[in-house]
Amino acid sequence: MPTLTNINIVTSGNETRPARITVENGKIVALDDEYSKNNEVIDCKNLLLIPGAIDPHTHFNDPGYTWREDFYHGSLGAVAGGVTTVFDMPCTTIPPVTNINAFYNKKEKVIPNAWCDFRLWGGISAESLDSPLWKNHIEQLKNAGVIGFKTYVLSGMDTFHQLSYEEYYDILKFASEIDVLVGVHAEDPEIVANATAQIKENSPAEFAASRPVEAEVTAIRRVGEIAGEVGAKIHIVHVSSGSGAEEIDRLQKQGVNISGETCPQYLAFTIDDLCRLGSVLKCTPPVRSKEENEKLWSFLGKSVSFLATDHAPCSQKEKSTGDFMTDYSGMPGVELLLPFALNYGYHQEKLTLEQIQKLTSENTAKRFDLFPQKGSLEIGSDADFALINLNSMYKIEAEKLKSKGKFTPFDGTTFCGAVEQTWISGEPVFKRREQK
Ligand SMILES: [Zn+2]
Repeated sequence: MPTLTNINIVTSGNETRPARITVENGKIVALDDEYSKNNEVIDCKNLLLIPGAIDPHTHFNDPGYTWREDFYHGSLGAVAGGVTTVFDMPCTTIPPVTNINAFYNKKEKVIPNAWCDFRLWGGISAESLDSPLWKNHIEQLKNAGVIGFKTYVLSGMDTFHQLSYEEYYDILKFASEIDVLVGVHAEDPEIVANATAQIKENSPAEFAASRPVEAEVTAIRRVGEIAGEVGAKIHIVHVSSGSGAEEIDRLQKQGVNISGETCPQYLAFTIDDLCRLGSVLKCTPPVRSKEENEKLWSFLGKSVSFLATDHAPCSQKEKSTGDFMTDYSGMPGVELLLPFALNYGYHQEKLTLEQIQKLTSENTAKRFDLFPQKGSLEIGSDADFALINLNSMYKIEAEKLKSKGKFTPFDGTTFCGAVEQTWISGEPVFKRREQK
């Protein structure tokens, strides 16, 4: 069995200590103990070792929209960025994962192409409610092991329509009865429709104005209040604004079982960047003002307790239709989740290493009932690791991303802090090439 030596692990804040970890059968079996001389000793040359990151929000689009992304390229990007587990979304798969047949169809298709560990989200759409058996479908998916159920208050997809607040009431009531977590894309459709009607030109600024912060806050409040009433467990995906995070905080203080995630794009960029960079930064909800951005940072690790990427690439053609409004919303991100946290968090002194560990694995694992199997370096935990050189500088080059989507708003930015190795189930699955 291998023993990783000359590693440093985080103790608290930015403090680290030297450690040794022995792994066997995919698990951590010893921490710091003397190892027998029969062990295969691996000198990790003083790299920082943290639990492998979890990205709870990816669209690997497989099967269905594989010209945009597939499981092979998406999960290769994951391991290249120290992400060892992804939770893949049900809506950007054909057929959507709203029943057990679609679940097994997807699982069988993607298993041979997965470089990383994964869980699948189930979904509940307006279409899935058309079946009189919708409750059975949810229960079967729960028993099959989905991580939660994704829903939309506002959806732009033809194959996965949004739910009304009335439908949310029925769904959350049932979700509470059988104890499953419901993920929510929170934008109020009426507010967005009214704001869209005011648009005068097809520009990035007008696009951002068409999906205002108020739409996010209202949807969080409406669904959050229903969840509170029926005792359901909900999770707000890609919280884009500080005001949205504040609303989650308010609901939590009222006792609602609600959590939130946010993404690098909402923390690193503002509307000014959207106007400057154009479609490459287009996503829904859109990036926000500087004030909202700063407020969002202040709720990170609190009401917004972990990071996700909403990894959603597309073809170049879909990103540049000639009309900003019809350009595809979404961007690849899974490969840059941990590098983002190191560069913008640790090196800009906004996050400690301990906080980064919580935001990228521990808190995520806890919310989705995977702790301490994931997100931990305890004996018995999965031997999933990211090994990091905190001081390695490198330039982000979009065309070198492992994803099928060769674009990112971080293109050309110099990052500090690199993932050197990724281990999954006690095996090295990625090693960064020596930089010239
Ligand atoms: Zn998404």
